Amino acid sequence: MADAPATDAAPAGASTTVDLRSDTVTRPTPGMRQAIVDAELGDDVYGEDPSVNALEAEVAALFGHEAALFTPTGSMANQIALQLVTPRASELLCDADAHVVTYEVGAAAALGGISTRTWPATGGDLDPELVAAMIRPRAPYVVGTEAIAVEQTHNRAGGGVIPLATLERLRRIADEAEVALHCDGARIWNAHVADGVPLASYGRLFETLSVCLSKGLGAPAGSLVVGSAERIAAGRLIRKRLGGGMRQAGLLAAAGRYAIAHHVPRLADDHARAARLADALAPFGVVSGSVRTNMVVLDLTGAPHDAPALAAAASDGGVLVSVLGARLVRLVTHLDVDDAAIDRAIEVLVSVLKG
Ligand SMILES: *Cc1c(COP(=O)(O)O)cnc(C)c1O
Repeated sequence: MADAPATDAAPAGASTTVDLRSDTVTRPTPGMRQAIVDAELGDDVYGEDPSVNALEAEVAALFGHEAALFTPTGSMANQIALQLVTPRASELLCDADAHVVTYEVGAAAALGGISTRTWPATGGDLDPELVAAMIRPRAPYVVGTEAIAVEQTHNRAGGGVIPLATLERLRRIADEAEVALHCDGARIWNAHVADGVPLASYGRLFETLSVCLSKGLGAPAGSLVVGSAERIAAGRLIRKRLGGGMRQAGLLAAAGRYAIAHHVPRLADDHARAARLADALAPFGVVSGSVRTNMVVLDLTGAPHDAPALAAAASDGGVLVSVLGARLVRLVTHLDVDDAAIDRAIEVLVSVLKG
């Protein structure tokens, strides 16, 4: 399903390094670059960029919502959404490993005045009853729970996918407690491809979603907040307040529209390559959990190397990996990693793991 031949995956002169650190490292394909060149532009702060307006309408429709808002980053999309569903000094519940409380450098507290409480990291194995038991009532003596955030797919849990039925159960719990649900859907495209769940089936379960164009979809930058027209109108003000009002942002929106049109079904290729990588490393007993999407997490407990040592040795062989913890390494497949690159990665990692 890849729209670009492997030789187009990286610009001329790029090194032959196999970069498995993240799916954010992709460079725009020639087709995407052409879409950027051809983009119709206007001033998006005035609501006049036709490419941004088209992207927002397309993404809202895909998720079955009224409106969407283009943002420079997924962190900004999450933080706008959290401010929309969690009034200042009220509480957000989320997974202890959630991006919103791990990799957004305290933004929920610093910018949104949001109090967060976390359930022990469960990744894709979310337990709705555990979450239900944590919801606090609105009363004059406690911080009341106003929203719950889940992550689909789950980054630190190695791309785990929360089953649709689990999310539906969480929706019923949220309705009973009258709290909002936010989905950090940076990689919801991967969940959609892995589980075959229509994007709109996810969309209808959440008040707000954030979705990234710059992960597996391969756009250079950009995310969107998805929600009701009323929420998105309020979100537009928050985006400006955060300094996220971009002008001729259609250059980026055009890349995003191209990514949605061409790079969604091919995520299955990334998933297959991650599975192949995991199968090849399985004999070393280091593959953590099951590989559902485009990530492989290695737990090096008991292995001869710790994570920084393995990363350094792999890097000497031209394979870059992410260190998630002293013994945890993450490998991510993406648009710029083809079958030959996976062969190379397997060869290098196997030789490192053999010690
Ligand atoms: C990458 C990512 C984001 C957004 O990150 P930015 O770098 O701010 O675009 C949000 N949530 C998850 C789970 C992510 O992996």
